[in-house]
Amino acid sequence: MVAVRFAPSPTGRLHVGNARIALVNWLFARKHGGSFLLRLDDTDRERSTAEFAAAIEEDLRWLGLDWDAFARESDRFPRYDEAIAALKASGRLYPAWETAEELELRRKLQIAQHRPPVYDRAALKLGEADKARLTAERGAPHWRFRLDGRRLSWPDLVKGETVVDTASLSDPVLIRSDGQPLYTLTSVVDDIDFAISHVIRGEDHVTNTGVQIELFEALGGAVPAFGHLSLLVDGTGAGLSKRLGSLSLASLRAEGIEALAVDALLARLGTADPVEPVAARDALIEGFDLSRFGKAPARFDPSELRTLSAHVLQHLDFETVRERLPAGADAAFWQAVRGNIAVVGDAADWWQVVTGPVERVEIEDARGVLAVAADLLPAELDGESWGRWTSAIAAATGAKGKALFLPLRLALTGRAHGPEMKTILPLIKSQEIKSRLA
Ligand code: GLU
Repeated sequence: MVAVRFAPSPTGRLHVGNARIALVNWLFARKHGGSFLLRLDDTDRERSTAEFAAAIEEDLRWLGLDWDAFARESDRFPRYDEAIAALKASGRLYPAWETAEELELRRKLQIAQHRPPVYDRAALKLGEADKARLTAERGAPHWRFRLDGRRLSWPDLVKGETVVDTASLSDPVLIRSDGQPLYTLTSVVDDIDFAISHVIRGEDHVTNTGVQIELFEALGGAVPAFGHLSLLVDGTGAGLSKRLGSLSLASLRAEGIEALAVDALLARLGTADPVEPVAARDALIEGFDLSRFGKAPARFDPSELRTLSAHVLQHLDFETVRERLPAGADAAFWQAVRGNIAVVGDAADWWQVVTGPVERVEIEDARGVLAVAADLLPAELDGESWGRWTSAIAAATGAKGKALFLPLRLALTGRAHGPEMKTILPLIKSQEIKSRLA
């Protein structure tokens, strides 16, 4: 049974990089009939907020991603306590009292001596008397996980065979001196308890995976499969970290970008498959294949997203956008304008054109054409009217081509370009058309 999770920390807004991880997990679950867990990694009480947690849910819903289960790490401290007790009992956790400054000093010394800056395990050698003295002098310790120091490898679902040598790593701190368990531990306890089968996350977690495989084993849990997606970079190949603020889902939404366009782009970024506008997420599930994702960094171009978003609009039906259109706008109106706007918000301009008033424009040498047009306007207007009407005007005035069509368009819409006139014309009231022609 496939079970995956998306595990953001509610310490900020989601950006396109997070969204990609969420989407790929969701697509993987939906493709394989599995379950998708939303887990909030909120053990850091100082930095996590309820507002960010709510915003994460709002952003995921906007993207169209639903979750089958929900968990909050802050609800699960008793489980972490049990895991901690087990690790202490098996001798894998040991107390340490070094301050950050002391560790930093040691690190600098190691680097100066051309030695790897790895924790020297001084605390592992402490006797009971030392521990009692340090507790008296410095208070509660933090706790480190004693790594086995092994060459761990796994068949990464994205990167292929991947190796982490835990002998080259510092024993990670799993519990802060104030008792707070840290992500490296809590994530593994959760992944075991929720029977996560596949951990799909960013490449920045590869080293964690080495440590966490040791933790899965130490806790007697089944080790899941892992896939590490390459990170997003901008057009120049630089990491996106500095620009991610402006690439939050909230700001893309405010800009009018379609969620379906974000999904369609992120579902293909980093694969060799073409990015295509889709009318529904089902098409993305169908076309999804994790093995298509490559090791190379994935280039994210915001202008590509804007273009795609405008294309996606042309495929959206009225019901999908209804509540974002001006009151009174109907399916015929949406049909008429959706090919001529970049964002749904632009439809309001065309609604103004339809309902009036429109700006008056000076039109040279067209009085004759416009006067005849007013006389010949059919009483009832439908999709065929424009063709018949303009033929009749042409026959009566001899005007044709641009000399016929441009004055009509300018008079009726106040602008030289826009949706096909045969779709716009029946949307405008006859009375209004007459007054614009006049
Ligand atoms: N909270 C972690 C993060 O956002 C989760 C990483 C993971 O998927 O294990 O980086």
